[in-house]
Amino acid sequence: MLARPVVLALSVMIALVPQVHVGNAPPVKLWRLDCGVIQVDDLNEFSDTYAYTGRSKRLTVSCYLIKHGGEYMLWDTGLPKRDLSLPLQGKDSKGETLSVSLVDQLGQLAVDPKKITLIGISHYHYDHTGQVDDFHQARLLLGHHDVQGLRAPDHPEAKALAYWLNGPGKLDEVVGDRDVFGDGLVVMLDLPGHTPGHHGLLVKLSKFGYVLLSGDVAHFRENYDSDGLPGWNTDRAQSLASLERVKKIVRNLQATFVIQHEVEDIEKLPKFPDAAE
Ligand SMILES: [Zn+2]
Repeated sequence: MLARPVVLALSVMIALVPQVHVGNAPPVKLWRLDCGVIQVDDLNEFSDTYAYTGRSKRLTVSCYLIKHGGEYMLWDTGLPKRDLSLPLQGKDSKGETLSVSLVDQLGQLAVDPKKITLIGISHYHYDHTGQVDDFHQARLLLGHHDVQGLRAPDHPEAKALAYWLNGPGKLDEVVGDRDVFGDGLVVMLDLPGHTPGHHGLLVKLSKFGYVLLSGDVAHFRENYDSDGLPGWNTDRAQSLASLERVKKIVRNLQATFVIQHEVEDIEKLPKFPDAAE
């Protein structure tokens, strides 16, 4: 027999935990896609405590394809196609490059881009929205507070999502967590701080187990391990709370945590064109 407050607390917890129906769960597959490379010449851009003075680093940009039953979802859409074949360093460099487009990679998987019905965007930064315009038929899932931010006058990141913000695209504003398919297998996690409506994505795979895709709650392993934060996050306290939440989820679910900009982390998933299942 449990005291009434304990019973109440337990029932609230049960309601909040994603419900996974293993018996008749649809098959879920997860592919990692190449969405570019960014050269960071001054790594202190990613530390408001000057932790990386004199250091540089190469960040990867990754996107993800999820197949849930017969439905396809993209998670983030990477650098824009104007970066295709740009030099990464030296003359004419913008410090970023793309070697293959999302549409080409879907082609290699024999997935018609028109079959993408959902796009989850972790947050509104340009390196996560770059190729979204190739998927106008998809419903766009984006944190409500990011949408609010983008509606401020002349927001520099709003243009990339204009088709959904101001045009005919189907925009789905995500408040809090979102169980995308209603069966607990693919859940957008509310992790604000990097931007006001920032989210990560938790995917439950039948053999591989849980995978947590970071969004930009952290940009590389070292700043994740040390709770390091860029000075340009929109809210420092929220960012630390989101990091704490991620670390607890990773521990409680024994999830594979994938920092989307960290080469070592994306290599935890099978190499394209193979999928994690
Ligand atoms: Zn990013």
